[in-house]
Amino acid sequence: MLYRTTRRPLCLTLASLLLLAACAETPQTEANSPITPAQPQAPAVVSPPAQVSTAPVSAIDFATWRQQFRGKALQAGIQSELFDRVFAGVTPDPSVVRADGAQPEFTRPVWEYLEGAISPTRVRKGQALLSQHAATLSAIEQRYGVNREVLVAIWGMESSFGQFMGEQSVIRSLATLAYEGRRPQFAEDQLLAALQILQSGDTTPAGLRGSWAGAMGQTQFIPTTYLSHAVDFDGDGRRDIWGSSADALASAAHYLQASGWQMDKPWGFQVALPTGFDYALADTEIRKTYAQWHALGVKGTPAGLAAEDTGYLLLPAGHRGPAFLVFRNFGAILRYNNSSSYALAVGLLSARFDGGGQISGSWPKDERPLSRSERVALQEGLTQRGYNPGPADGIIGANTRRAIRAFQQSLGLPADGYPTPALLQQLQ
Ligand code: CA
Repeated sequence: MLYRTTRRPLCLTLASLLLLAACAETPQTEANSPITPAQPQAPAVVSPPAQVSTAPVSAIDFATWRQQFRGKALQAGIQSELFDRVFAGVTPDPSVVRADGAQPEFTRPVWEYLEGAISPTRVRKGQALLSQHAATLSAIEQRYGVNREVLVAIWGMESSFGQFMGEQSVIRSLATLAYEGRRPQFAEDQLLAALQILQSGDTTPAGLRGSWAGAMGQTQFIPTTYLSHAVDFDGDGRRDIWGSSADALASAAHYLQASGWQMDKPWGFQVALPTGFDYALADTEIRKTYAQWHALGVKGTPAGLAAEDTGYLLLPAGHRGPAFLVFRNFGAILRYNNSSSYALAVGLLSARFDGGGQISGSWPKDERPLSRSERVALQEGLTQRGYNPGPADGIIGANTRRAIRAFQQSLGLPADGYPTPALLQQLQ
């Protein structure tokens, strides 16, 4: 999955779809999938879609839209013969419209999300694949400077190592979203890129399969990411992220390389915080070297870090849960899927392949994540009190976290910026 617009998301995968609520820094849409659900703040996964927003009603019929898009596609260099062949018989897919409009009410707690993402089965499978593909992975590491463990972790997260890549027609899904989705321009750009993929001969219309959002293959790349970063690593002349694990892994490596991956550097590690720690320092915008964090009493095992490497403190479940220092490679994973829960899962899974990645301490399991409507209510309450959390969209981004911190500080509470049911109650 690679998508995201603003921050350049990349992907969208099944995993990301599952993530839904997570992320913190994410703006709404993008992240890996452009079309991927937004990632609000917390961790993950969604339960059954509780609300369906109304998709924009298109003012024109599908045939008219297709004719208009055909003109744009031809102008962009798509051959008319290809366009007409690919679009023959294509109709909007109602299931795609429903998926696009779904806004899950409930968010899975981060500890449950991680438990699912880093299951013993997935760890064992990944270890077996690391061994099976050792020669290919060595060659990929040499060419792109991206560690094999993170590639295999992403492979596992995105498609369960190629087992679940999505079976829908990418052309039909994207045509539906361009015609009547929530982000028609994004979908149209992806659709045009999908046509360019077909014109390049890398795959066939029948082979261009993916998720409802257009995320494709073992890496769940969206079409624009495919065009910019997919590579033919096995040398058969085609960039085949569906059928060739070598192509898929090398394509993911190429993307991570472009996102700033540093070979053999840690993505992050768990840390212990001292009593009385100022939790307001746990903010993606507050970056310090390990030496500076250490001077503040933050203690961890910084294997592989250089003195100048800077990172920020991540509290996935607020001040009552485990704390992590995360560095530049964590940011590279976020470029793949802009959800801190996703990036944490990838980091921990990659460490687990080598026997690490265990979390010490406990999660605040008595504290359930706020639902979507509760997050909206929280934002409304903060606004009423003058804290400026931004629009009440249910997404806990930087502005909302800042507003939560200010409210927490006014109450003399630890200012971790983490929304809880208790805090919501105090606002109301
Ligand atoms: Ca190939």
